Amino acid sequence: MSGQRILIVEDAEATRNFLATEILAPQGYLPKTAPNAETGLTLAYSWQPDLIISDHLLPGMNGLQLLETLKSNGYNIPFILITAEGSENLAVQAMRLGVRDYLIKPFKINDFLEAVERILQEQSENNVAKPSSLAPTALLETMLWNATDPVLLTDEQSRILFFNAQAQQYFQISTGALYQPLERVITQPELVDLFQHKTPNLVDYEINLEERYIFNAHLTALRGIGKMVILHEITHLKELERTKSELVTTISHDLRSPLTTILGYVELLERMGPLTPQQKKFTENILFSVRSITATLSDFMELSKIETGFNKSLEPTQVEVIANYAIQTHRAQWEAKSQVFHEEVGTELALVLGHPIRLKQMIANLLQNAIKYTPEGGEVGMRVYQEGDFIIVQVMDTGIGISVEDQSRIFEKFFRAPSVLETHHGTGLGLSIVKMIVEGHQGRIWVQSIPNEGTTFTVMLPIIQEETV
Ligand code: ADP
Repeated sequence: MSGQRILIVEDAEATRNFLATEILAPQGYLPKTAPNAETGLTLAYSWQPDLIISDHLLPGMNGLQLLETLKSNGYNIPFILITAEGSENLAVQAMRLGVRDYLIKPFKINDFLEAVERILQEQSENNVAKPSSLAPTALLETMLWNATDPVLLTDEQSRILFFNAQAQQYFQISTGALYQPLERVITQPELVDLFQHKTPNLVDYEINLEERYIFNAHLTALRGIGKMVILHEITHLKELERTKSELVTTISHDLRSPLTTILGYVELLERMGPLTPQQKKFTENILFSVRSITATLSDFMELSKIETGFNKSLEPTQVEVIANYAIQTHRAQWEAKSQVFHEEVGTELALVLGHPIRLKQMIANLLQNAIKYTPEGGEVGMRVYQEGDFIIVQVMDTGIGISVEDQSRIFEKFFRAPSVLETHHGTGLGLSIVKMIVEGHQGRIWVQSIPNEGTTFTVMLPIIQEETV
């Protein structure tokens, strides 16, 4: 049998760790240890083990007193008593209190395991009729313990409150780690850093452990308790993404060379002698197609780079500085279409944990679309302000708008509204890139639009929190 929770109460550290780590855990049991009866009692109440193995001679309350206290509080947990020397009196007392077995030190490991197995077997036979003998809290803890993803919980003083079997295995946590400071138990600095992050309440991170495992780590601040991290291993997914990205880069690169050759020959054609109007039209069509393929290749490569992930290079960023820069670099474009530009960019806004280049790309894509899909003489604008824990970036225009039907599809890769296919050039990848960048910053994006009246894109980016708990 395996999976049962066994509490070992023993003041000799070497013995309790030996029994837990070397003897019980390899058999599939879930051991926890306590150095004295008082801690043992707390664990027995909160964790509700299936079996308690306790030394008799403990500092303070002894083993039999521990059992007596449990019984008087209505806890009938099977109990094995260990003593340093056998005494008839003690044996009688133990049997009277319902001790299920009695081992005298030094005992043989085989006898010890045989007693554990037998008592747990008897107990499970007694419990067959019940759907579950576990109290709801113990049931939850058992579920968490057996979860396939590593789970770690710390209290507000950064001491370990809970870890499950997967966490124990990945991070080599010893069974005596409960209530110890996190940084003393966890040797991987990336994981310790994660717990110390001053970030919003619910955050996803990617962490790389010892250059071996990549995890998607989900940090939650639990008010009044501490912090919880659930890790999901994505090493194989990352490997797949890397291969895909390499493939995209290779194909894009290999396609660029023949495209350059085509462009070169088209230019040469013109130099070889005057072209007829029809020949000129044909060469213009070739040039237009080559440029479209080149633009799609560039966007596709960008998308692939962003998909590979950029959240390792995030830094405190002033969104308003990036927005002002994007506005300046697009001035020529709106002026060329005689559009009126409205800007309302706040100052000294809170910082965002961001990737400046990607954020600039996100704002530039929205701005380019606003200018592109707004006719000459129309209005385009941008607002950047803070609302609560978020920086809001809004890009609006008085352009052609987007039908309700198309609004639900515009963030899809390669989607272009049927109404713009003939009239405006584009790759259909710009908004997919925008959305991916926003989500890489834990942000949200949405669109409001009325056909022939205009469109507003709103982006919400979480600011860096001073305190999380
Ligand atoms: P592209 O502009 O290259 O076609 P995007 O992914 O940037 O690709 O946008 C997808 C589609 O969303 C566009 O083809 C267009 O139909 C619509 N769209 C995006 N921005 C606007 C806007 N500001 N006004 C009207 N339509 C827009």
